[in-house]
Amino acid sequence: MIGAGVRLERYEQAGVERGGFLLGRVHAREGRYVVEVLRAVEDAGGPATRTSWTFATTSLLGLRDAMNGHRLVGWFHTHPGDAPPHPSPADTALHRDLFGHPWQIAALISPAGITCYRLAGEELRECPWSPTPA
Ligand SMILES: [Zn+2]
Repeated sequence: MIGAGVRLERYEQAGVERGGFLLGRVHAREGRYVVEVLRAVEDAGGPATRTSWTFATTSLLGLRDAMNGHRLVGWFHTHPGDAPPHPSPADTALHRDLFGHPWQIAALISPAGITCYRLAGEELRECPWSPTPA
């Protein structure tokens, strides 16, 4: 679930990729996880180009203050319109390295919309999402 105030689509932008952390809550329901995204924290990022994006090396250190009792439920980044609207091998490697919990998600923002992924084995697999009910 993605909270109405999070508005990930506003990060969509021509030019370079943008991204950051997703903060929120995790609920276990009937043997599966429901992740509630309550906040997106954009990260200045490392060197970004039109086709790649990574976190700045210092960003994890600064994150603790922003968390305010929330959990690090995943990350997000944008893909420009002419890039494939699915995670690249580099995206998958980044997720595996930094987001090892089974409930942590990767949200990909492209002109086609927002797509969420979770780790399934070594791969990122699409998972359904919906807006948080009001
Ligand atoms: Zn990507």
